[in-house]
Amino acid sequence: MKQEMTAQQKQLYDSVIVLDDSACWIWQGQVSNSGYGRLKQMQEDKTVQMVSAQSASYRAFIGAIPDGSLVKQQCGNRLCINPAHLELMKV
Ligand SMILES: [Zn+2]
Repeated sequence: MKQEMTAQQKQLYDSVIVLDDSACWIWQGQVSNSGYGRLKQMQEDKTVQMVSAQSASYRAFIGAIPDGSLVKQQCGNRLCINPAHLELMKV
């Protein structure tokens, strides 16, 4: 990442290890029972909620997640939050 990151982007990027071969950003924080990264994050209404790491990454680096969509990893790695590996999936 060469361009300046926002505080939220930096917080996420500081919580990953980047794999050399796949360029996956492997989440180093909390992991849910289903094997996905997760973190506590302040919401727009100032409440703190547990959100999935890939959703937080998508919002921070790409944009809003439309209603009825989930963020999934194209690379198949549940702990990966590289925005280039994320895609939206209709629920
Ligand atoms: Zn990946």
